[in-house]
Amino acid sequence: MSQSYRVAILGATGAVGTELLILLEERNFPLSELKLLASPRSAGGTIQFRGQDLPIEAVCAESFKDVDIVLASAGGSVSKTWVDTIVAAGAVMIDNSSAFRMNAETPLVVPEVNPQAARIHKGVIANPNCTTILMVVAIYPLHQVQPIQRIVASTYQSASGAGARAMEEVKTQSAAVLRGEEPKPEILPYPLAFNLFPHNSPILENHYCEEEMKMVQETRKIFDDPNLRITATCVRVPVLRAHSEALNLEFGQPFDVDKARSLIAQAPGVTLVEDWQKNYFPMPIDASGKDDVLVGRIRQDISHSNSLDLWLCGDQIRKGAALNAVQIAELIIEKNWLKPS
Ligand code: NAP
Repeated sequence: MSQSYRVAILGATGAVGTELLILLEERNFPLSELKLLASPRSAGGTIQFRGQDLPIEAVCAESFKDVDIVLASAGGSVSKTWVDTIVAAGAVMIDNSSAFRMNAETPLVVPEVNPQAARIHKGVIANPNCTTILMVVAIYPLHQVQPIQRIVASTYQSASGAGARAMEEVKTQSAAVLRGEEPKPEILPYPLAFNLFPHNSPILENHYCEEEMKMVQETRKIFDDPNLRITATCVRVPVLRAHSEALNLEFGQPFDVDKARSLIAQAPGVTLVEDWQKNYFPMPIDASGKDDVLVGRIRQDISHSNSLDLWLCGDQIRKGAALNAVQIAELIIEKNWLKPS
């Protein structure tokens, strides 16, 4: 990467935006300019980047002039508001929201799984939902060898998945409970401290919540398998950061468990974490701040000869959002796929 690029972060003050800044610095991303955009609430403040105080600007129509890449993490409605301006300005938008993920002309990309999908875009590339990214990175090494026919997923999703303010709310609620007070929900719908509840995304007509159906539809799109059978139950748990998932994977025939273990151990973006003697397996505190998805407890499903069970933990702000977006940016730079085709 000899050239350098003008990048804007839309939503620079949020949970994902903050991680994007850390990653651009950590990975020495080839930047010639970095613009930090947020709502008027944050305008006038500054954020330190590479030893400099960069100003936070309120996003406006002029913001995207002379920008090559926009990393958008300000939510779906903000992405929808600015997408036309961004594309008209000639920039490519890598979007963390769900606004465009299922549009036929928008690639939905996880670089370890379907990098080639990023080649043909119309100025927008979507980052999948965090639970989907963590799952597909972990199971793709198996799917490549023997196609998965059915997935049963149960998720244990941290508070920060609902944004920086939800994470603060769990801390405040926990302190309140320890003082013997009632925890007050403000950002999340119910108390999360010392509690859990089914995922707080809207319930759909089929009685799944949006988060669950994102896992279903996005996994089918990423694997390019519209018939993949998948069901999910998503749950919010009082963990600050990093999501966990219990997965049951059904194949067309038995999958040797040692082979599965060795495939996962060698796969990019995944670390095998298994110590059966010590009963030590992936935990959210170990996954927090890590690039890789931690996978373990890979075992034969005793109820079905063609199925395996596994457990994973992954930092949903990092690989589930910011890192995946930065990897997409690095991919399209490396392949020279920046321009729409
Ligand atoms: P967040 O912590 O609530 O941050 C939201 C960001 O958007 C802030 O920078 C905020 O700026 C900005 N913003 C809000 N309204 C705006 C407006 N009208 N114009 C410009 N900027 C505005 O949210 P987050 O968790 O980072 O999530 C951001 C996006 O990433 C969402 O689409 C979310 O679904 C997705 N995502 C999040 C995660 C996660 O683990 N958190 C994972 C995957 C995907 P102010 O500070 O000025 O309000």
